[in-house]
Amino acid sequence: MEIEKSLYDNLQSFFGFDAFKGDQEAIITNILNKKDTFVIMPTGGGKSICYQLPALMSEGTAIVISPLIALMKNQVDQLRAFGGTDSIAHFLNSSLTKGEIARVKEDVTAGKTKLLYVAPESLSKEDNVQFLRSIMVSFVAVDEAHCISEWGHDFRPEYRKIRSIINEIGDDIPIIALTATATPKVQSDIRKNLQMNDATLFKSSFNRSNLFYEVKSKKNVVKEIVKFIKNNAGKTGIIYCLSRKKVEEIAEVLNINGIKALPYHAGLDAKTRAETQDKFLMEDVEVIVATIAFGMGIDKPDVRYVIHHDIPKSMEGYYQETGRAGRDGGEGVCLAFYSKKDVDKLTKFMKDKPVSEREIGTQILKEVIDYSESSVCRRKQILHYFGEKFDETGCNNMCDNCRSAKTYFEAEGDLLKVLGFIKQEGNKFDDHHIINVFLGQNNQPISSYKHDTHNLFGYGKELGLNYWNSLLRQAELSDFIKKDIDHYGLLALTEDGIKYINNPYAIKYVLNRPLENSDEDSIDDAGPSSGALDTELLKMLKDQRKKIAKQKSLPPFVIFQDPALDEMCTHYPVTIDELKQIHGVGSGKAIKFGASFVELIKNYVEEKGIDRAQDLVVKSTANRSALKVSIIQNIDRKIGLDDIASSKGISYEDLLKEVESIVYSGTKINIGYFVDEMIDQDRQDEVFDYFKSAEVDSIKLALAELGEEDYTYEDIQLMRIKFLSELGN
Ligand code: ADP
Ligand code: ZN
Repeated sequence: MEIEKSLYDNLQSFFGFDAFKGDQEAIITNILNKKDTFVIMPTGGGKSICYQLPALMSEGTAIVISPLIALMKNQVDQLRAFGGTDSIAHFLNSSLTKGEIARVKEDVTAGKTKLLYVAPESLSKEDNVQFLRSIMVSFVAVDEAHCISEWGHDFRPEYRKIRSIINEIGDDIPIIALTATATPKVQSDIRKNLQMNDATLFKSSFNRSNLFYEVKSKKNVVKEIVKFIKNNAGKTGIIYCLSRKKVEEIAEVLNINGIKALPYHAGLDAKTRAETQDKFLMEDVEVIVATIAFGMGIDKPDVRYVIHHDIPKSMEGYYQETGRAGRDGGEGVCLAFYSKKDVDKLTKFMKDKPVSEREIGTQILKEVIDYSESSVCRRKQILHYFGEKFDETGCNNMCDNCRSAKTYFEAEGDLLKVLGFIKQEGNKFDDHHIINVFLGQNNQPISSYKHDTHNLFGYGKELGLNYWNSLLRQAELSDFIKKDIDHYGLLALTEDGIKYINNPYAIKYVLNRPLENSDEDSIDDAGPSSGALDTELLKMLKDQRKKIAKQKSLPPFVIFQDPALDEMCTHYPVTIDELKQIHGVGSGKAIKFGASFVELIKNYVEEKGIDRAQDLVVKSTANRSALKVSIIQNIDRKIGLDDIASSKGISYEDLLKEVESIVYSGTKINIGYFVDEMIDQDRQDEVFDYFKSAEVDSIKLALAELGEEDYTYEDIQLMRIKFLSELGN
C-alpha cells in the first residue's frame, strides 16, 4: 500500500500525469521489488517512466544504458526540468570534458543523482567500471535492448558486453530491459544475453490502431511524394531513404518544389544534425528526409506521416520508423514504396557481407517482400510478425488492403496438400522449394530430393506462382506452418497445422493482387515526357507565340522553344512562378514573355475544368549539373570558351552544346567578350540580322543562306547562342 501511494504521488508531482498507461504500474512495482523485468512496449507506449520513476524512489543510483547520445541528453534535460535540480540526472559519455566527468562523479558519490545515463562504449571503460563499483546502484536499465540481437534492426556489438560488466559492478543488481521491437527471436536473444531467464515479461500489444498502412508500387515516386506532401500541407512528416545520396537528392527536389525539407543522415556534422532536429521540433521545417539515423528518441507527438521512399531492410525497422507517426494517437499515415529493384539493390549490398550475416539479412528482407506483396491486412501481418494474433476486422479499414476489393479463394483442399507434403517430407524445405514442387519446376535441390517424382510434383501448375505464394503466406499467417528464420526460412508444421490436418474446415484465403510494375528509380521520372499532350492547348500556345513574336519583331523560337510549349500542355502552369519551373523557360523568359501564356492557360484550365492537382509540376534537379554551374561561373569571369573546355576536359564542340543548353533553358549569359575575339563586327551583324528574320533556328539553313565559305558551323552556333541569350532570356 505504501509503495502504491507514493507511486501515484510521484507520477503526479514529478511527471504531472494522472494515471499510468498500460502496464506501467505493474512494471514499476516489479522492479521496485528488485525483480528482473523485461518490457516490450511499442514506441510511444511510455517506456521511460518505467525506469525513471522507480529510480527516483530507490536508494542509490540507477544506471541507464542507452545507445544514443542525443537520446540521453534529451532525457536528462527533461528530468532536470521536472526535478528542478541538475544533479538529479547525469550522463557519462565521450562528449564530456574531464572537469564535467569529475562533477558527475562527485554528484553520484554524494547520493544526489538518481539516474546516470551511460553509453555502452563508456560503460566498458575500466575507470568507469571501477567508479560504478564504488557506488550504490539501485538497478540497471537497458534501453533499446534489441541492440543486443543480430536479428534486430540495430545491432550494436558493445551491447553484448553489458552482462559481464554488470557482474563486475556488483552482485544481484536487478535489471530492467526495454525494447519496442521484439520478435520472438530478438526476445529470446535478449533474455539469453542478459541472462535474465526468470525476468517477468510485460508485453503490450503492438497494434497502433491510429496508423494507416499503405504500400504502393514505386512508380513516379518523386511525383507521388510531392503530391502527397502538397495534399497534406501544414503537417509534418518524415521520409526515409536507404542512402545518404538519395536523402540529399530528395530533400533538394522537395525544396525546388516549394516544400521546406531538410536532409538528415550520419554524414552531416553533429551541429547541423542538432539544428535540424530542433527545426523539426519547432516546425520550422515541414519534412525531414532521413536515413534511419533519424528519429530515435525524438519525441515529436504530432508527426502526421512517414514515407518510405525505399523499402525498409526489415520489418522491425519498418515498424519502428512508421511508429514515429501519430504518437499522440492522432492521424498517422505510413506510406511505403516498393520495387523489385530495391530488393535487388539490398541483396547486392549483402553480397559483400560474411555468409552468416548474409543469410540472416536475406531472411529478414524476405519478410518485407512478403509483407509488401501480400494482399492480406497489413496490420494483421505486422502483428503476426511480432507474435500477435489479430483478427483483421479489428483493422477498421486502416490499411490499403482492407480498403480494396479482395479476391478470395477456397483454400481447404490445396492447403491440406501443402501441409500434408510438409508432414510427409519433414520440416526441411522453404516456401520456394515447396512452391516449385507444386508448380512442377525442376531444379537441382528438387531432383536431389527426388521431388520431381513425387506425386504432387506439378500438381498445381496451372494455378500459377501468385496463387501458391498467396496460399503459403497465409498458411503461415494462420499459424499452420512456422518459418524458422534461424535456418534458411525452412517451414515447419505447427501444432495448429497438425490439428488442421486432422480436423480440416473450409477456409478462405485472399489472392495477392500483383503490384503494378515499378519504374526506374529516378528523379527524371517527373520529366517533360510524362502524360499525354493536350494538342488543343498546344495549338493555342503556338498561335500565341506567333502573335508575341510579331509584336516584338522576334522569331518565334526566341520566345519559347517547342519542348517548353509541350511541357506547358502537360503541366498547365497558371502563374509566373509555375511557368519558371517548366524546362527551358527560366526566370528571365518567364518574366519577359510569360504573362499572356499563363493567362491563356488559366482560362483554358478553368473552361475545361482541368484538375491540375492530378498533374503537379514537379521540377527535377536533372538540368542543374555541377558542370553547367561551373561553366556559367567561368563565363561570368570572361574566360575563353576554348579555355573552359580544356580545363573541364571536354571538347570545344561539347562545351558549345552545354552552353547552348544553358541558354535554351532560359539562363542569360554574356559571351560577347569571346565572340568579339572570334568574329569581326560586320560578320556578327550579318548573322544577327539573319536570325532576326529567320523562321526557324536551324544552323544548316543559316549556313546555306550566309555562305559556307564565310562562316564555320561553330561561328553560327556561337552567334545563335549570343542572339538567343540577348533577345530571349
Ligand atoms: P517510448 O520510450 O516507449 O517510445 P516515451 O517514454 O517516450 O515512450 O513516452 C511516450 C509519450 O507518452 C511521452 O510523450 C510521454 O510523456 C507520454 N507518457 C508516458 N507515460 C504517460 C502517462 N502515464 N500518462 C500520460 N502520458 C504518458
Ligand atoms: Zn487492414
